[in-house]
Amino acid sequence: MSAFTIASTVAEAVTLLADGARPVAGGTDLVVGHRQGKAPLPEKVVAIDRIADLRGIGPDERAAADGSTAGLRIGALVTHAELMTDATVVGSYTALADGAALVGSPATRNAGTIGGNVMNGSPAMDTGAPLVVLGARFELVSGRGTRLVEPDELWTGPGTTSAADDELMTACLLPARPPSSASAYVRLEYRRAMEIAVVGAAASVELGDDGSLASVRVALTAVAPTILAVTGLDDLAGRPLDDDLLAAVADIARSQAAPISDLRASDAYRRHTVGVMAGRAVSAAAARARGEHLAVPINRSVGIGRKADQ
Ligand SMILES: Cc1cc2nc3c(=O)[nH]c(=O)nc-3n(C[C@H](O)[C@H](O)[C@H](O)COP(=O)(O)OP(=O)(O)OC[C@H]3O[C@@H](n4cnc5c(N)ncnc54)[C@H](O)[C@@H]3O)c2cc1C
Repeated sequence: MSAFTIASTVAEAVTLLADGARPVAGGTDLVVGHRQGKAPLPEKVVAIDRIADLRGIGPDERAAADGSTAGLRIGALVTHAELMTDATVVGSYTALADGAALVGSPATRNAGTIGGNVMNGSPAMDTGAPLVVLGARFELVSGRGTRLVEPDELWTGPGTTSAADDELMTACLLPARPPSSASAYVRLEYRRAMEIAVVGAAASVELGDDGSLASVRVALTAVAPTILAVTGLDDLAGRPLDDDLLAAVADIARSQAAPISDLRASDAYRRHTVGVMAGRAVSAAAARARGEHLAVPINRSVGIGRKADQ
């Protein structure tokens, strides 16, 4: 017989998780997956959507306490609709707003949470690549205490994480942004809404005083078993932000992608287009770092999904 419980505190939720219950936040993956016949609903479910401590976007008090520059704490229950309109996220952590704004439909964005997106562990998740380039860590709480995990430690394969069954994700923690920096997330999609990423790329760019590249981070969506952090970009520092640099980023991204073929795209098409997306993400992040206004989501500004009259 299945059991459904509503938790009102983190302590209550982790006690229920230790007793074998599975958390449900917005239910847009868990419940929809069940209705589509992908996976049966768990025997025991605990609804976490009324836990006030899991809400809100604000300063990361932990960083302030240990003397580092305060970053941002995003509660696990923060919805995509909140992420895409929050002034701090849009202003300073823009790739995350770009990603959230592309999720599903208004209904999905109002119900779906960042905690559910991250813990579902899909390599096509739209907040994943932005979180990687922004240096996110995830706060996991259980009866044994609290631990912080890096994205590459959390995501272990398509739909799997290293979190124990009794661990609740309580927040995403993002470090303060460096000066002269900005970020962007671009996704290849065949239609304008209700589409998951064919491929996607996020970039975070820091500019030097002369406008050249001081540092760049890139992460890729839907071209590997998990979100892929691109390595080997350090050598690009100091170069001007020109077409040669964007071509180099595209080549490096393509060389590290390990895509599959499925009904939505072949592996060769994914490998080619992820390079294009990586270059566009770097270009858009650099433009934002120079102070240019590129609206959220950046997809529409660069022409993907833009209507003819826009
Ligand atoms: C029509 C539709 C379109 C969609 N389009 C997109 C899209 O474009 N891009 C995209 O990335 N996603 C998309 N999704 C997937 C989904 O909406 C997102 O992944 C959403 O963020 C999931 O959040 P949720 O709160 O609904 O998760 P839930 O369904 O409540 O949970 C998902 C999983 O995470 C676990 N979980 C939830 N919260 C926690 C927590 N705090 N700690 C530990 N485990 C937790 C649950 O046990 C479950 O395994 C779409 C879904 C639908 C139905």
